[in-house]
Amino acid sequence: MGAIKENISKILNSIPANVKLVAVSKTKPNEAIIDAFNCSQKIFGENRAQEMQKKYNEINLPIEWHMLGHLQTNKIKYIAPFVSLIHSVDSFELLKEINKEAFKNNRTINCLLQVFIASEETKFGFSESEIFGMLNSDEFKNLHNVIICGLMGMATYTDNKNQIRKEFNNLATLFNKVKSGFYKNNSEFCEISMGMSGDYKIAIEEGSTMVRIGSAIFGEREYFKK
Ligand SMILES: *Cc1c(COP(=O)(O)O)cnc(C)c1O
Repeated sequence: MGAIKENISKILNSIPANVKLVAVSKTKPNEAIIDAFNCSQKIFGENRAQEMQKKYNEINLPIEWHMLGHLQTNKIKYIAPFVSLIHSVDSFELLKEINKEAFKNNRTINCLLQVFIASEETKFGFSESEIFGMLNSDEFKNLHNVIICGLMGMATYTDNKNQIRKEFNNLATLFNKVKSGFYKNNSEFCEISMGMSGDYKIAIEEGSTMVRIGSAIFGEREYFKK
């Protein structure tokens, strides 16, 4: 408990009060989540649908569960009844399937559009023109069970701080463009999810409203799972 508590309060002290902290608990046991919850942490992020569903079923606490990882359409059903926010909507097809599952569960699901901002080929996400194309389409306007709450991005895994800053800056610029083009008078479109353990301070300087932090809270993961 000691280390998790210390890590969370250190992070909370270093981020502005309006920036939300998502504690990324992927691969970590329920006990770690419960420890963090007992330090007033309410938002937890996972990157695999079945792992998140299992933890949701086992941990009986009022947690806000956020999905961060690439979602296959056939896995949406595992999280659709309870997920609070899906950060990783990376295609129109996926958004349509999330809408269907939300409808089946008689709810609306909050979503962020994941934007491809990195120079790596392995990262998922929309391009700028794909986002504008989707938001302009009639098909999009007929999706009544999803709410677009903002954008999410992951910077390149590099030591080059200027590059990371540039990528976050590009995401914030795109957010402002989408906001003024489509969501000007819509207060729901308000989140820029960017920043992880290694780069969240830069992300906040560039306008992040939500940081997703795993290893700086829970320690290194035993094996790499993106
Ligand atoms: C794992 C993960 C994080 C957290 O990474 P850390 O470096 O451990 O803070 C954040 N965002 C996404 C999408 C992730 O998959």
